[in-house]
Amino acid sequence: MADNGVKLEGIMFEAGGPTFGAPAGGHADARRRAVSPELQEDDLAFDRSLRPKRLGDYLGQTKIKESLAILIEAAQARGDVVDHILFSGPPGLGKTTLAQVVANELGANIRTTSGPAIERTGDLAAILTNLEEGDVLFIDEIHRLNRMVEEVLYPALEDYALDIVVGKGPAARSIRLDLPRFTLIGATTRTGLLTGPLRDRFGIAFRLQYYTPDELAAIVRRSASILGVDIQQDGALEIARRSRGTPRLANRLLKRVRDWAQVRGDGVIDEDVAAAALSFFEVDGLGLDAVDNRLLELLAVQFSGRPVGLTTLASALSEDPDTVEDVYEPFLMQQGLMVRTPKGRQATARAYEHLGMVPPEGFGA
Ligand code: ADP
Repeated sequence: MADNGVKLEGIMFEAGGPTFGAPAGGHADARRRAVSPELQEDDLAFDRSLRPKRLGDYLGQTKIKESLAILIEAAQARGDVVDHILFSGPPGLGKTTLAQVVANELGANIRTTSGPAIERTGDLAAILTNLEEGDVLFIDEIHRLNRMVEEVLYPALEDYALDIVVGKGPAARSIRLDLPRFTLIGATTRTGLLTGPLRDRFGIAFRLQYYTPDELAAIVRRSASILGVDIQQDGALEIARRSRGTPRLANRLLKRVRDWAQVRGDGVIDEDVAAAALSFFEVDGLGLDAVDNRLLELLAVQFSGRPVGLTTLASALSEDPDTVEDVYEPFLMQQGLMVRTPKGRQATARAYEHLGMVPPEGFGA
């Protein structure tokens, strides 16, 4: 704990309530909520074993890696801390992994928490005063920080300072405490939900892109070698093609295909084995699962291709609107299967084609 931590603790206890000093927990829970159908029970331990540790093991996202390497080298040469960094993109693309890679490359400690886990200003104050010079603070789902907490973060990001109010009413005064210099890495599924002032305080922002099948095949092969799974290049590519451009999914499908190959085959994964296993698990040729296809069917059939509002769509799917927006829609839109218009969500002609249907008369007119 920093020198000023003890003093602060006394003050914040009066104002901050009982959760002050609680560890920065809740990260896993919060992530699970935001991507509920995507992140499953055993994913966390599994993710950890496959997570690349250094930039060299982190496959794909070439441009981002190059920029980060420059940022890190330049800051280190100046003996400075790296600017605050924002990563955005759909779940499972490697934002958390990249934050850890940056910390490893810097030889820095990383503290991990998430927006919803920091409920009170006191929680954030506790985290900040526990940082050490050069540490990386990773806040996942940073768009879900509440406004009061966010305001405490501003001076911490800009001036490495913590402003706290002591006393009440006319006697209240503000004191400023120095914090160690640190790097904040924020991750968000949607930059649009970040407030302007918070966005402005990041020195640099990167948007992660969906991975190409070749990049994902390389990730699958790397994971297979860590797990000791026998896989051929065409098998890796088949899994990659059906992984919605997402490494987390590629790793999960690899695990399922491995099980299938062990029980129904001879344990070796080639293209035919991968295709048969994935069909068995209802992952179609585009990588869409049962929920994706149900979403398209709703848009195309139940709503006959007319625009549908997000909440209507989410309740018809029995899903949370955030999940629909963060998890399902980005990939379906990227694949040209649906569009968002000012009037609502709509199936495209490609969606009808994918479902093996003909669009209704007057569709798209
Ligand atoms: P996010 O934070 O964006 O939801 P994660 O960083 O948790 O995604 O990534 C999910 C999993 O995918 C990780 O555990 C890791 O195994 C794998 N992964 C992500 N990006 C890469 C990559 N570029 N190279 C190899 N594996 C990756």
